[in-house]
Formats: sequence, C-alpha cells, structure tokens
Amino acid sequence: MSDTPPNESIPVRCPYCGFRLEKQMSYLKEHATFPCPKCKGLLNSHSEEIAKAIAAVMQQRDKVRKLLGFGHRKSDT
Ligand SMILES: [Zn+2]
Repeated sequence: MSDTPPNESIPVRCPYCGFRLEKQMSYLKEHATFPCPKCKGLLNSHSEEIAKAIAAVMQQRDKVRKLLGFGHRKSDT
C-alpha cells in the first residue's frame, strides 16, 4: 500500500566520519548509494542502519496517523 508519497526526511549518519545528514526517503529509494557531503565517502542507501532509520520514521508516522484518527472512524453521537 502506498497512500502517501514517501518523502519523509530520514536521519542518516555517515559511517566513515560520523557526519549527520538527512535524506528524503524518495531520494534513498532512487539512489542505491550517495556520497557523504563532508568526507565524500559512499553511503549505501540499503544499509541496515538506514533501513532501521526508515523503519523508525515509518513507525512514527503510523503513530501520528493513529493519533489523528486515521484508520478507524470514531462514531460519536
Ligand atoms: Zn562522511
């Protein structure tokens, strides 16, 4: 299911120099690798760390959706 375009910002930490950056989820899906802006090291978009970061963001989004009442309707009278 893809009801909303996946463009959340995913926090990424460079494994080489520790630089923290954010990449949009759509960017990570389109680019298998991308260079660190600081050390120019090549980061793998499909690494376990980034996969975890994406999962965490998705979980957070799911929580927010539930808080906002998406998914099930309240039928108060
Ligand atoms: Zn780096």
